[in-house]
Amino acid sequence: MIEFIDNSEPWRPTTSGERLLFLLLTNHKEARYLSNVLSESGLRFARRYGDWSNFLVGASLLHVQQRLIKLGNDVRDTVPNRLDQIRELRARTCDILQLTPIEYDADFGELIQEVLISAEQIHKEPSAGLKRLVCKAGSQCCYSCGRLFGGVYEDAPAGLKATADHVWPRALGGDSVEQNLLPACESCNCIKGHLATWHMAWIQPIVFSDIDEMNGPPPIPREVQMALHMRAATAYARANGTTLRDAFLTIGPRDRPAKIDQDQGYDFFNMRVHDEARTMIKWIPG
Ligand SMILES: [Zn+2]
Repeated sequence: MIEFIDNSEPWRPTTSGERLLFLLLTNHKEARYLSNVLSESGLRFARRYGDWSNFLVGASLLHVQQRLIKLGNDVRDTVPNRLDQIRELRARTCDILQLTPIEYDADFGELIQEVLISAEQIHKEPSAGLKRLVCKAGSQCCYSCGRLFGGVYEDAPAGLKATADHVWPRALGGDSVEQNLLPACESCNCIKGHLATWHMAWIQPIVFSDIDEMNGPPPIPREVQMALHMRAATAYARANGTTLRDAFLTIGPRDRPAKIDQDQGYDFFNMRVHDEARTMIKWIPG
């Protein structure tokens, strides 16, 4: 039922941050416990059982990951020697995981290495040459909003500028390598921030309350539309075993937000920004 936790390799990772997330997903006993409790509780959102539980487990794991990377960064700043960094991290990671190394199912050393490598990415800017390469490749459109670079728009009267966006953000261990970069306009790049998976969307706009159905769909904040885009890309990447970057390139920029099930209200889980034909994802569970 909880799709996020049932898969050891939810999509093909290209960065240390993604590998770290998958290590936590498959081996973090607390998360698996939470997943089981939620499954058995029959918790549901509107008519759907899996989405809400999946969101809670994913958000809690990402929270753990963020704390681990922050710790990794602090240790890098204060402890000079790599071996001592690993020793220090080993001791302090247990507090965050609330586990002893023995209770962690996988190789604890591998986890520590991945935390340290992920923390290193925070400071690594892509080179000017790599940024140029990424911005000049492809269709010359923002991968997120689909607008043409150079075109004049309300928020870019001097012409839309291309920037290299980290598909998996640096703050979460996203490497500055070509496989993790896509051309995005400045405003999409800026609004996306550290959004790495749809689990990171704020909880508040999950329910779009006080909707006047007569006056059409409510304005959906761009962050939420991006989270829906991320959700579609994640689902595509998992179904096809691709990287997130390739998933974004295949499904293309986001469309206008639309309801999935017309009989249900406007909430995060009942919205989509890609149709079934483009993603081959059946949005309404069978
Ligand atoms: Zn854009």
